[in-house]
Amino acid sequence: MPEGNEPPSDGAHTSGIERVLVVMAHPDDVDFGCAGTVALWTGAGVEVVYLMVTDGEAGGDERTQDGEAMAELRRSEQRKAAAAVGVHDVRFLGYPDGRVLPTLELRRDIARVIRLVRPQRVVIPSPERDWAHIAPSHPDHLATGEAGINAVYPDARNPHAHPELLTEEGLEPWKVPQVWLVHGPSPDRFCDITDVYDRKLAALSCHASQIGDVEELAGMLRPWLTQNAAAGGLPEGRLAESFRHVDTR
Ligand SMILES: [Zn+2]
Repeated sequence: MPEGNEPPSDGAHTSGIERVLVVMAHPDDVDFGCAGTVALWTGAGVEVVYLMVTDGEAGGDERTQDGEAMAELRRSEQRKAAAAVGVHDVRFLGYPDGRVLPTLELRRDIARVIRLVRPQRVVIPSPERDWAHIAPSHPDHLATGEAGINAVYPDARNPHAHPELLTEEGLEPWKVPQVWLVHGPSPDRFCDITDVYDRKLAALSCHASQIGDVEELAGMLRPWLTQNAAAGGLPEGRLAESFRHVDTR
């Protein structure tokens, strides 16, 4: 093989991964947190499914639009943003934005989608608050992370958890071998997204109801992604998204 044409290294950690389920609280969370990495995964042939706990109807400064109209707008923005990084399966649970709690019902609803999708990796917000960066630790994110990890272990794999999933819906238990946490206090996986950075920006720009000025946003994103890359030991000038890997086998 001529020099320069080597297959890309597995910088996005796709070895053994066929399907990934990303569970987030609001439309746009996935695009801020990990759309670049998702673009790498779909580019490598991994099937990625998004599950949004809320429709994000409480987002933005708009005070005249009614909740259902805002919810519909945000669902459609998220579907466009997903398509920009190769994701065509976006599901919504419709929990009320701003009032997410890690209830048994939410655990069951996430476990149901895990059993349907049967992913080798689930990506969730960190249920652990990062005191150094308070904004990403929104209570809906923490609650989604807590319900998400409980849905992975034990609910999705235990036939006695939410027994109606098996007895009424015929959904066999599924063991997710690994979880990646976004926005947690102690990341240990750094995905180099420099080459797909414009696709992350394109995904973010689909959230027009939330993001006024994409240029301004890009100005904020770049230093943060550069910091991630430095923390991951990547060469200067690179951009990275960061995660914490959790072995859930
Ligand atoms: Zn959010």
